[in-house]
Amino acid sequence: MTTATLENVDVLIVGAGPVGLYGAYYAGVRTLSTAVLDSLEEPGGQITAMYPEKAIFDVAGFPAIKGRELVEQLLKQAAPFKPTYMLGHQAVGLERGEGGFAVSTASGHRIEARAIVITGGIGTFTPRPLPTGGEYLGRGLVHFVPDPKAYEGQDIVVVGGGDSALDWALMLEPIARSITVVHRRGEFRAHQHSVELLKRSSVRILTDAQVSGVHGDPDVDQVEVTVKGSDPETLPCTKLIAALGFTANLGPLMEWGITIEKRQIVTDTAGATSVPGIYAAGDIVDYPGKVKLIATGFGEVATAVNNAFAFLNPGKSAFPGHLSDYAPEPGEPAPAGSPTAEAPAS
Ligand SMILES: Cc1cc2nc3c(=O)[nH]c(=O)nc-3n(C[C@H](O)[C@H](O)[C@H](O)COP(=O)(O)OP(=O)(O)OC[C@H]3O[C@@H](n4cnc5c(N)ncnc54)[C@H](O)[C@@H]3O)c2cc1C
Repeated sequence: MTTATLENVDVLIVGAGPVGLYGAYYAGVRTLSTAVLDSLEEPGGQITAMYPEKAIFDVAGFPAIKGRELVEQLLKQAAPFKPTYMLGHQAVGLERGEGGFAVSTASGHRIEARAIVITGGIGTFTPRPLPTGGEYLGRGLVHFVPDPKAYEGQDIVVVGGGDSALDWALMLEPIARSITVVHRRGEFRAHQHSVELLKRSSVRILTDAQVSGVHGDPDVDQVEVTVKGSDPETLPCTKLIAALGFTANLGPLMEWGITIEKRQIVTDTAGATSVPGIYAAGDIVDYPGKVKLIATGFGEVATAVNNAFAFLNPGKSAFPGHLSDYAPEPGEPAPAGSPTAEAPAS
């Protein structure tokens, strides 16, 4: 396989989820040239893939913000610093050299970086397939609902009992012609609040039930659902949403020689991994008491990137200062005397 050196940057951020995007902002503030790599075609990680339309209520400063809008704001926040986004490229190989690292991608590219911040979340994730009807993918069967407009006036069947299934059912209820949730267990795994909302909505709920057949030519127009102990029932269905969760594959990242415990990266309080120059933040990191939330990842990546800056600039402080004090223009060095400049001798 031929490789091309695409980027030679100070920092490579692996993972363009919310945490990686916020990391790109902080890397820019610290005047580090930055590339952000993601195997998905769109930035935003789990938010874009699984709940772009869901309202998020627990990001500091936003009483409520839609997933999609949060991702837009994060991109906007980092934009002045012009990070290079390399989307649709999975990081696979890591080489260590004297001046830093070289990361190769599944598509055959190579990025050289002096430091790396891994914000790979739950890894490259793949939707769990429906036990039957998988051949309808792209012909009415989907795993994500990136844009609800296409669902207006449709007969929708959502399969699954987790947060994505219920979020999508509740989101699409007002615009669907009919909507049914099919869940193979008696109890939902989703947030209790969503379960309550679902029960109060007009969504038809079939529990202890499975999709036992999918029909239509060329696109889905009917599904057969079997509720335990009953005969199969045929439902009209023009959009079939399989929200059965994901298999996450940390795959290649596990082979990078970084200390991993229970398939999570171990970091110290500076966000440093066991390999000097490689930092990590967000859902991919674990430690006792860790709470996997966007808010947590934002704090971790601010710490990781600023410590990566100090690693790359010996003698300079990891503390970026209070940004309103000086807010450097993109690409400009921080003003003399600011914490980004030389740290005072101790
Ligand atoms: C349905 C649902 C609802 C949620 N609701 C909330 C909520 O209301 N509030 C909240 O705080 N949290 C919520 N979360 C959790 C939140 O989404 C995660 O904590 C957050 O997305 C973690 O961000 P991250 O950037 O660390 O990882 P991710 O969002 O997982 O992003 C990681 C990115 O890294 C990429 N990647 C992985 N490996 C590679 C590789 N080898 N090469 C290239 N790219 C790679 C992936 O493709 C992905 O895009 C929810 C999660 C789900 C599933």
